[in-house]
Amino acid sequence: MDLAATLAEMNATFPETDVRLPALFVGHGSPTNAIEDNEFSRSWAEAGSALPRPRAILCVSAHWETQRTCVTAMRKPKTIHDFAGFPQALFEMQYPAPGSPALARLACAGIHETEVRLDQEWGLDHGAWSVLSRMFPAADIPVVQLSLDRGRAPEAHYELARDLRALRNRGVLILGSGNIVHNLGRIVWQDTAYDWGVEFDETMRRLILAADHDAIIHYQRLGQAARLAVPTNEHFLPLLYILALREHNEAIRFFVEKVTLGAISMRSLQIG
Ligand code: ZN
Repeated sequence: MDLAATLAEMNATFPETDVRLPALFVGHGSPTNAIEDNEFSRSWAEAGSALPRPRAILCVSAHWETQRTCVTAMRKPKTIHDFAGFPQALFEMQYPAPGSPALARLACAGIHETEVRLDQEWGLDHGAWSVLSRMFPAADIPVVQLSLDRGRAPEAHYELARDLRALRNRGVLILGSGNIVHNLGRIVWQDTAYDWGVEFDETMRRLILAADHDAIIHYQRLGQAARLAVPTNEHFLPLLYILALREHNEAIRFFVEKVTLGAISMRSLQIG
């Protein structure tokens, strides 16, 4: 499709509106939150039902890492069960939301920072569907996923995300799904928290409220707590995508604030 046709499709399917949709970062934690009625899944459901209905959703999940940046462009994304050792009910979960080839093309056209590839293979991983099945249980809003290019530095992810801002005015809800503190090697299956997990989570809370995005992007400078909280950064990076979307002085609301399982921060936030 050439540029003129893409622009025409974009204005027809995602016309600009006066309403700027909020953007969300959700700490997804264990996949079992998709099937358990607990404090997290209830908070996600409440946050979802309070939102204006989006035309479509673009999700940046910790669980899709690629070479270069990709966006899912199929009409019917499959539900991916990308985990092991969980109850059978989780493997039976389906989230049959349609895809949106039009949104995929719109995202491609809007991202100038790098070339984005349209993907026909992925689908919806549990970073996306475990949260969306609670927020939008009817699964009737089209969803696309944007991948994390593992070759990019944190500041380069933040820069790319700046190109997504215009989507918010076209009825697109942008959702980042990861965890601010995520150390699987230190997990304990109890509702408890390591001191370093609480410390890093608190530091992030303060920096987010102060809009000190530079310090958040360069989290590695934050010492031992950061090394333990973010041993690999795929769960942290979706936060940068959401912070990059914040317009000047936009409201921030934390709708989950908790470190659990020792080493998992469930902190979730809404911008706008
Ligand atoms: Zn995860």
